[in-house]
Amino acid sequence: MGDLLFIDDIKPGMKSWTAIITVQEKLNVCSAPSTSTKWQKFIFVDSKGSKVQGVLFDYAIQKMGPKLKLYKKYRISNAEVRSAAERFQLDGLKLQWIISTKTIVEEIDEADSSVLPFHFDFTAYKDLPPYADMKYEIVDVIGIVIHVSSVIPVHKDSRSSLVQKFWLVNEEMNPILLSLWNEFTKNEGKSITELKDKYPVLICRRLNVVMYNGIALSTRNDSVILVNPPVREVNQLKHWAARNEKSFAGLLEDNMHAKQSPQLFHQSHQKIISIIDVVPTQKVSWVKAQVSFKHIIQKYYYMGCIKCHRMTAANFGTTFTCNHCNEKQQASPRYRFDVDLTDHTDTLTASVFGDLAESLLTFTALEAMNYHEENTELPLEKVHQELQSRMFIIQLKPAATRDGGGHQRYTIVYFFEDSSSEESANKSAHPDVHTISLGIGNTVPTNAAPENQVSSSKVRIRLDTKFDQSEDANDNTSKDE
Ligand SMILES: [Zn+2]
Repeated sequence: MGDLLFIDDIKPGMKSWTAIITVQEKLNVCSAPSTSTKWQKFIFVDSKGSKVQGVLFDYAIQKMGPKLKLYKKYRISNAEVRSAAERFQLDGLKLQWIISTKTIVEEIDEADSSVLPFHFDFTAYKDLPPYADMKYEIVDVIGIVIHVSSVIPVHKDSRSSLVQKFWLVNEEMNPILLSLWNEFTKNEGKSITELKDKYPVLICRRLNVVMYNGIALSTRNDSVILVNPPVREVNQLKHWAARNEKSFAGLLEDNMHAKQSPQLFHQSHQKIISIIDVVPTQKVSWVKAQVSFKHIIQKYYYMGCIKCHRMTAANFGTTFTCNHCNEKQQASPRYRFDVDLTDHTDTLTASVFGDLAESLLTFTALEAMNYHEENTELPLEKVHQELQSRMFIIQLKPAATRDGGGHQRYTIVYFFEDSSSEESANKSAHPDVHTISLGIGNTVPTNAAPENQVSSSKVRIRLDTKFDQSEDANDNTSKDE
């Protein structure tokens, strides 16, 4: 079968060789949308720690794929060795072995394969923020699963996907949300769910860092999720978990993203911009602003599917077939209301939803619904008063929908209180802007915006919005009843 060589000694076109490798990673099967070609990639590692990419195409995936098991050792001979075009390289590995149905692949029974010599470079959770929303930047992380959610369907741009979310924690004690998509929910997601009471350790490779209620992690097509791989770092983390198990419950009880992500954020030097510079072409923007909604007349909630939160005409508490989940779900009130964000440059209206919205108020969406149905105003005097002296760091994104007037709307993705500037909050707000928001509160029935003010156009937008929303609210009410 040829000379026994190390991975680094095997060159393109070389024939008559044998190597002993361990399967470190086995990726999901991929297919090109334009052709019917399918492929599956592997990462093989030898006893020196050198790596090479293994590739199976089409029929070989069925025939050879199941033979090559994760973490097992094999003797491979005479695979076709080719250089890989840059866009097909994994981890910058320049060579690939094409494993066909003719390639000799023999499993080696290992007497002791308890700990494998894999090497990983993990990114600490606190160092993740600079990679956020950068499609071509990938990270490897290690973490213990401390919470498992169920698989949920997501519909976006007429495409359906499946997502399953997990909370990971490591020695930093900074929980982070990991989303597994599609194929990953069927394989790795299922294994993790089965192991959830045993705190499985995941090594996640080639993840994207995304902005989702702070910083979160998300799989790509070429990601790999190793569940409890037999490597030293995993054992180490398991030992640490056994000593710290008690504190995991506490991490879960707290509102994790609200508590943890601001710390991550502060270390990331995200750029805070002035409200006057917020533009819809920017995917996400961070602003530092005061929040007020005293002057906006609105219904504070909508009726939605309890699972996917899409709006429904179903009555509260009834079970209906959700058109988005395609499952029987309950109708439940969810917060949605508009707030004005004001800094020293301008004022902008944005919508806030769900738990994030609830954290601004002192009661639940269900209670808000009850007030609404009794035709009673929400008792918000204290909330409004307290908001005047609070300053928030807010992440905004342009909303997909526009309001009735065709104005670009914004959604608050995430916010937290900026405790560092509590005292300066009132001073930093522009006095003119401040007057405007108070002024509107006093002139609710009129459609006239104050003249000659810095943000009079914005004020008009808000008034338009306000009337649209009142109408919306009435429409919804009539449907509800
Ligand atoms: Zn639904």
